[in-house]
Amino acid sequence: MRKKTWKKAMICSLAALMIVSVSGCSSKSGSKNTKETKKEEQAKETKKKVPDTEAQTSAVLSLSEVQTLNANDKDKKFKEYVSSDTNIVTVTEDGIVHAIKAGTAAVTYTDGSNQYTCNIKVKKRGMVYPVFTMMKGEHLDIQFSNKDSGLSWTSTDSSIASVNAKGKVIAKKVGTAVITGTNRENVVYQCNLTVNKKIKNIIYLTFDDGPNRYTTPKVLKILKQNNVKATFFELKPAKKDFDLTKRVLDEGHTLAMHGYQHKYDIIYRSEKTYHQNLDKLRNLFFKKFGVWCTLTRFPGGSSNTCSSYNPGIMTRLTKKLDGWGYHYFDWNVSSGDASRGTTPAQEMHNLKKETTKGHDSVVLMHDFYNNQPTLKSLDKYIKYAKKKGYTFMPLTASTAEVHHGVNN
Ligand SMILES: [Zn+2]
Repeated sequence: MRKKTWKKAMICSLAALMIVSVSGCSSKSGSKNTKETKKEEQAKETKKKVPDTEAQTSAVLSLSEVQTLNANDKDKKFKEYVSSDTNIVTVTEDGIVHAIKAGTAAVTYTDGSNQYTCNIKVKKRGMVYPVFTMMKGEHLDIQFSNKDSGLSWTSTDSSIASVNAKGKVIAKKVGTAVITGTNRENVVYQCNLTVNKKIKNIIYLTFDDGPNRYTTPKVLKILKQNNVKATFFELKPAKKDFDLTKRVLDEGHTLAMHGYQHKYDIIYRSEKTYHQNLDKLRNLFFKKFGVWCTLTRFPGGSSNTCSSYNPGIMTRLTKKLDGWGYHYFDWNVSSGDASRGTTPAQEMHNLKKETTKGHDSVVLMHDFYNNQPTLKSLDKYIKYAKKKGYTFMPLTASTAEVHHGVNN
């Protein structure tokens, strides 16, 4: 079932720049009145009080990049490194910075007598996983948001998580490890990995075809009330609905892709059309929300026959997705909420019947407009399943994929 061969390691190869900003001084000529001269002198006086060593430097880092501050300044002993925002940049006591999230943060430090500041900008481009959590037994293909080549991989503890030459990580034991990728220009990328124990009987709730202003907020509310994280396979949101996608992310759910559009007679015309339908949405999400989505679901599922006007297209697409940097998920529990005439009672019946123990369940639901059957049974189903001992989780890039048999 599980097949992940990551072919295109993508990374941003831009070397981070250390730029020292120098404040320019321009000399003024010409006559001045006494008042002005006095003012200037006063200003000079104030300036003098600030130590000239209070240097402001700046650096640009790619996501996941690790860099040592003051690596070339061995004469001074710098200490007390502090980051103004550890969600964006962390810093060790030795001044090693790690870019965690796109944004800006300042790292301050001292040499005992003077204070220094390095203003750091973290770009969206770079390695996708600065921090990642896996469960024992899971696999992760470390992926990149831009092309790079010749990366060499290491793990600080191979008994906890190993990594092979292609950047495939296997979680072996509970604990933490640091996975490092170094490119030919010696740019270092780092993933701080936590391996947790494998939980049994997980339910992965998935919602297709959203976001929708009527349904999505109601679904999110139910999930929040039950403290459940889920996965949303979205279509291109209407501009006015970008806030709904942002809410999905902000509330801790996984944003995944269904496609830029859903029209079977268009998207399955060719491999190129399908590829573009995914890339277009991925690029939009990346631009708008700074997340690089890797999880997808075929409209109609990989077992669909609505693509049969193009014989063999699903066979070809399912083989190519990995190489394009996508993992696809079908489902093994269907709520039936997209079938005409399904009542909330029927949906509950379907869900109870198909959710069984001994394996994980990927549940197909929808957050399209006015989906009353799901809106009326979701809360009940969550409460029912929790009582039965199931655990709800969002899909991640290391979750074992659930695939249907391909029929075209
Ligand atoms: Zn759909």
